[in-house]
Amino acid sequence: MSAHPKFCPRCSIGRIRRKRLPYVMVVEDQLVNIPRFPALVCDVCHAYMFDPVALSRLEASLSARPRPVKTPRARRAAPLAPAATDKPLESF
Ligand SMILES: [Zn+2]
Repeated sequence: MSAHPKFCPRCSIGRIRRKRLPYVMVVEDQLVNIPRFPALVCDVCHAYMFDPVALSRLEASLSARPRPVKTPRARRAAPLAPAATDKPLESF
């Protein structure tokens, strides 16, 4: 299994080097920014892909962590009932 190709699959000249690139992903509507994520970058055409091993590891750690308790917005139409029934009518 070669997760680390020697030559660039795009230009087939460049060599693939390991670098750290900023990686941004959205997890449950939250932006997760990883400033130095392992990536494989071609040194000729600069095509890059994020390290699939690191990606799967990241996904595993994200799914393993306890989910944030989502507080569903209570769609309860709070009846703002003016308590008029227990008050005497003053306009009379
Ligand atoms: Zn290339």
